[in-house]
Amino acid sequence: MALIEKAPAKINLSLDVLRKREDGFHDVEMIMTTIDLSDRIELHSLDEDKIEISMESRYVPNDERNLAYKAAHAFKKKYAIKTGVHIGIEKNIPVSAGLGGGSTDAAAVLRGLNRLWNLNIPLDELAVLGATIGADVSFCVYGNTAIARGYGEQIEVLASPPPCWVVLAKPNIGVSTWTIFNRVKINELYHPNTKRVMEALYEKDFHKLCQYMGNSLEPITSSLHPEVSQIKQAMMNIGAPGVLMSGSGPTVYGLVEHENKARRIYNGMRGFCEEVYLVRLIG
Ligand code: ATP
Repeated sequence: MALIEKAPAKINLSLDVLRKREDGFHDVEMIMTTIDLSDRIELHSLDEDKIEISMESRYVPNDERNLAYKAAHAFKKKYAIKTGVHIGIEKNIPVSAGLGGGSTDAAAVLRGLNRLWNLNIPLDELAVLGATIGADVSFCVYGNTAIARGYGEQIEVLASPPPCWVVLAKPNIGVSTWTIFNRVKINELYHPNTKRVMEALYEKDFHKLCQYMGNSLEPITSSLHPEVSQIKQAMMNIGAPGVLMSGSGPTVYGLVEHENKARRIYNGMRGFCEEVYLVRLIG
């Protein structure tokens, strides 16, 4: 038995860091939406009780450190499954880029195993299990558009953004989420207006969305990696109406309403940056 599960990347339309908690995590408020840039997860049942991963990536380990492995392990343990699984991952989402690549692979494994072994576990339950693997896994279990609170595990589904194109530009560096959160100084943080971003989604107001999208972590990542602000400036100069860093970075994205303009910005950005993508929002 084998099946394919799509694992789409996410972008942050907003990311606010509210406070540092006693347990060391930060309370956040993040509006995320999925984009049409996906890994492809292939699952095969194995008679032997083991988890195998195959994936060609210089940056991601193929063993129990892989978030897809952790997801399969947590799933098998929770539901006492003695069957094994082979997980093939075609990696298309850039790694350590702020696009939730590892989290979406883990979420796709949870959804996929649920189908592979016909368990009919509700998504809400998979999302709770996902939170034990990583902060963004709960969101990725649902996909589409949602606000995540707590350390990222409390999900409330939101209206999807107005249809538009996304130009992504990733500088040639990887950023560790832990390093960026470690540099957060709560009293000095910039806070986006999350309420206005939510209004923009419900009103399907593209320009309001572009005006209010914001990310508390962007100044921190930019101070460590000036490439981030350079790419942001370049994308704004070329004419993208809304430009923001996603997650803890370093990927910068621009929202563009019309395809022709999006293609122009995509072509323009290829002069600045090696890794540029043009995709649609699917959230
Ligand atoms: P986020 O936006 O959720 O903070 P990210 O996009 O910045 O995540 P990832 O691509 O998820 O970062 O990678 C973060 C770390 O997770 C890397 O060190 C990577 O080696 C590890 N990792 C483990 N499994 C995976 C996987 N299946 N895909 C990508 N990264 C993985």
